[in-house]
Amino acid sequence: MPPRKPTKTRSPTLADYNAKRNFNNSPEPAGSPRTKPALKKKRELIFCVQKHLASHLHYDFRLEHNGVLLSWAVPKGPSLNPKDKRLAMRVEDHPFDYADFEGVIPEGYGAGIVMVWDKGTWSPEPGFEDVDTALVNGELKFRLNGIKLKGSWVLVRTHSDGYPEGRTWLLIKHRDQWAGDVNVVEAAPDSVKSFGDFADILAKDQPAIWESHRPARGGATGKMLAEIIEEAAERKPSRRAPKSANGKRTATRTKRTSKSK
Ligand code: MN
Repeated sequence: MPPRKPTKTRSPTLADYNAKRNFNNSPEPAGSPRTKPALKKKRELIFCVQKHLASHLHYDFRLEHNGVLLSWAVPKGPSLNPKDKRLAMRVEDHPFDYADFEGVIPEGYGAGIVMVWDKGTWSPEPGFEDVDTALVNGELKFRLNGIKLKGSWVLVRTHSDGYPEGRTWLLIKHRDQWAGDVNVVEAAPDSVKSFGDFADILAKDQPAIWESHRPARGGATGKMLAEIIEEAAERKPSRRAPKSANGKRTATRTKRTSKSK
C-alpha cells in the first residue's frame, strides 16, 4: 500500500505540552487528560484566561474540551468591543488541572509569571455543539460565563497566516448586553484567584528568582518585569521579622536582660 497522504492539519496536543516542559524544574501540572469522566453528563465545561508575563505579555485563553484545555495565546487579551478582532494563536492543549495554575515558572518554556485572570464556564452556541467539527471548520461560537468575560463570542480561523496548521485565529466579542467599549484588560488587571497583581504572585514565591537570565530583559516587557521584581521584593514579608497575630512586625531587637552576661 502506498503511504497514506498526510492529513491536512495537525493541531497541537497535550503531547506537545509535555514535550516542551521538564516537570522537575517547573511547578506547572504535568499533562495527562482528565481521567474522571464528564460525570453526570451535566457538569458545565470550564474556561479560563491566564495572564502570562513571559518573553512577552499575553493572555492564554483556554476552553475545556474532551478532558483537556484547548488553548489560544492572545497577545492583546480579549476585548469586549465587537469591533476588535483579537489575534489568537492556537497553542498546545493544556491539562485540565492547568486552569487553576497561578505562580512562577522559574525557567524553561514559558518562564515567567502566570495569573488566573478570569475563570468560569463556557458552552457552545446552538449549531456549534460538535466542537471538533467546529475546530476543523475554523469557526466556534460560544458563550462565556466568567467573572470578567460573559456573553457570546466567536473564535474564527484566518486563511492568510501561511501556517500549514492554520494556527492563526481571531477572538471576537459578539454584540450583546455584555459587549462594551471598556478596556477590560486595563480596567480589571488582577487575579480572580488571589485578587493580587503579578508582583503579589511573585512576592509569594521567590522575588529574587531571576537575578540572572530573566525571561524578558529588553523593551517594554523587560521594563515591566524589572518593575514587578522590584515591587515584589518590597512586598515580600521579611523572614527575620515574621508578622505576629495582630499583623505588626515583631521587634527584632530586644533589650538584654540582666541575666545575660
Ligand atoms: Mn502562555
